[in-house]
Amino acid sequence: MKKIIGWAIIIYVLYCIGIAWYLFSFADSSIPSKWKGTSADPATFLTPSEQVLSEQYSQWKNFLFFVSVPYDWLAYLAVLWLGMAKALQTWSEKATKWFVLQVAFYVFWFSIIMTVLTLPFDFISYRISWAYGVSTQSVFSWMRDEAMDFLVNTVMLFLIVVVLYGLIRRFEKRWWLYAWMVSVPFTIFFMFIQPVVIDPLYNDFYPLKDKVLEAKILALAEKAHIPSDHVFEVNMSEKTNTLNAYVTGIGSHARIVLWDTTLQRLKEKEVLFIMAHEMGHYVMKHVYWGVASYIVLTFAGLFVAGRVMNWLIRRWGEYFHLHKISALASLPMFLLVISVLNFSVSPVVNMVSRYEEHAADEYAIKLTKDPDAAISAFQKLTKAGLSEVNPPVFVKIFRYTHPTIFERMVFLEKQKYSERN
Ligand SMILES: [Zn+2]
Repeated sequence: MKKIIGWAIIIYVLYCIGIAWYLFSFADSSIPSKWKGTSADPATFLTPSEQVLSEQYSQWKNFLFFVSVPYDWLAYLAVLWLGMAKALQTWSEKATKWFVLQVAFYVFWFSIIMTVLTLPFDFISYRISWAYGVSTQSVFSWMRDEAMDFLVNTVMLFLIVVVLYGLIRRFEKRWWLYAWMVSVPFTIFFMFIQPVVIDPLYNDFYPLKDKVLEAKILALAEKAHIPSDHVFEVNMSEKTNTLNAYVTGIGSHARIVLWDTTLQRLKEKEVLFIMAHEMGHYVMKHVYWGVASYIVLTFAGLFVAGRVMNWLIRRWGEYFHLHKISALASLPMFLLVISVLNFSVSPVVNMVSRYEEHAADEYAIKLTKDPDAAISAFQKLTKAGLSEVNPPVFVKIFRYTHPTIFERMVFLEKQKYSERN
């Protein structure tokens, strides 16, 4: 056992060194010489010091991402290997004979352990953003968000585990199918409540203060046939310098939301382009496609997870202190398998997302006919978030749900060109 743990740590450290080498020394994120001096060239809109900061900041953020994903896996494995999951199960079974209470007890302590193990990464990530001036959040406010995360995630995990393990205990073979059936209405319900119930737990939402701008946004929405009579503003400037906006809502009513940072930093024309982009998502029903593909992926994921877990327990059960899947102690294994599957399909999911984002850019240009406003909006977005214009290829594959700023700029430059001719 000690041997396995030793090897796992050695492999992890070697992996971290490899990632550091790739990100800090090997990868090239300069732009092709053909585009030097154009609006896609960061040298034309960032000061030399901003260029250096954005490169360093992105390298650190990317490094943390690639290092923390397998760290989480290692944390799940540690909880299994060291017998902590087993001990928690025994403890909760001794404490009460009621299954729901056992789950509550187990999930609460399991969440505490995982939070303690992963908190250092979260804190380092926050401090890096703060040091580079991207985050403006106070330590107190950050801790409040972390506490809220803990609460929301623990309650969600509790609900999931009650249903999931209730099913596993009753249907040893087909549980994954029934779990999937239950997850469908749950997913759809969550899509409804997240923007209205969960998001306001973290930040203040209120009607847009600038009524002239609101009228212009609503006029644009009407042009795009989007039913909406309010625009919401969310107070984010106390937490971050980055800019954002989105349109959510399923069914007959759209909810248009703008971060106050976006309003402070962008000119009216630029805000309207960003809004047109978000409206593009709404009009092309990307939320529905998102929910539908999520449901399909959950089906495949649960099926594979069931198979893999049974195999792992048959083959390595004694190392994991597990002899059957229905034991609560198998929860870290379930989360581990789901996380690995998630990471494996993320390149495909991201690719589909990048395709949709590009479609939304195209839609926005058709609606506003203003590529110049789009270019200056993206330049300001890059500046505010110290984003990388042209990230290394592995970073794009695993992290980019949007086309890179470079790709978006090249598209917009071509639009400008075709408009002139
Ligand atoms: Zn978008």
